[in-house]
Amino acid sequence: MSERIDVLGVGFDNLTMDEAVETAYNLQRERRAAYVVTPNPEIVMICRENPDAAKAVEAAALTIPDGIGVIYGAKILKTPLKEKIPGCDFALKLMDRMQSEGRSVFLLGAKPGVAEQAAENLAARFPQLRIAGTNDGYFRDDAPVIEKINAASPDLLLVCLGAPKQEIWMHRNAPQLHVGVMIGAGGSLDVFAGVVERAPEAWQRAGLEWLYRVLKEPKRIGRMMNIPKFMLKVLFVRKK
Ligand code: UDP
Repeated sequence: MSERIDVLGVGFDNLTMDEAVETAYNLQRERRAAYVVTPNPEIVMICRENPDAAKAVEAAALTIPDGIGVIYGAKILKTPLKEKIPGCDFALKLMDRMQSEGRSVFLLGAKPGVAEQAAENLAARFPQLRIAGTNDGYFRDDAPVIEKINAASPDLLLVCLGAPKQEIWMHRNAPQLHVGVMIGAGGSLDVFAGVVERAPEAWQRAGLEWLYRVLKEPKRIGRMMNIPKFMLKVLFVRKK
């Protein structure tokens, strides 16, 4: 395991994108339903107030920084992280790495119909990847969903229920799941299905993906207020 870097109570693995993909690939081969979390500043702030979320994030086998805010935070705290690893790109790279061996993926989450559309698009993009199954993210009981996933026994399970629901779900259910590895990947299925657009690359490179999302979905502004709160907290901690 790599050295973890603390950013306001969440320990991040200090890896490049390629190193993180390789680590997840190896976890998948171990088949012990270990899971990857991809916290952004919003999730770091949620963990400070929600002990279940904090425990779930802490128990992850791999914690990668999704979003430029965490990278800035780590830099200001004088413990820089190697690079930003957007969960969505990370999941795509892992699926690309897995497809040559005909590995399988199960897509869990998003509104009805979205996971199926995402599956179609992923199958076109990665022809050797096996789609083991899909399920929307608006179910009440875990048991039938777990049964369905276990019957499919996928190498990778993408859990896209939003934060911190997905982290808590993976933590609670990992012991009963027969899967290789899981990733809590937020809105990735919406992106893979083409329901939500990623920011243009220039915006991503400029570290402005968050601004693009607020402009596209102004209702996110309330949630996004966690970003300035996160930055102020980082500056406060550094001063002490
Ligand atoms: N979602 C879900 N079940 C729920 C709540 C949310 O499947 O009970 C899905 C939602 O449809 C969306 C994703 O979870 O596809 C959350 O997306 P968001 O962009 O909010 O991700 P976050 O910013 O939390 O990573």
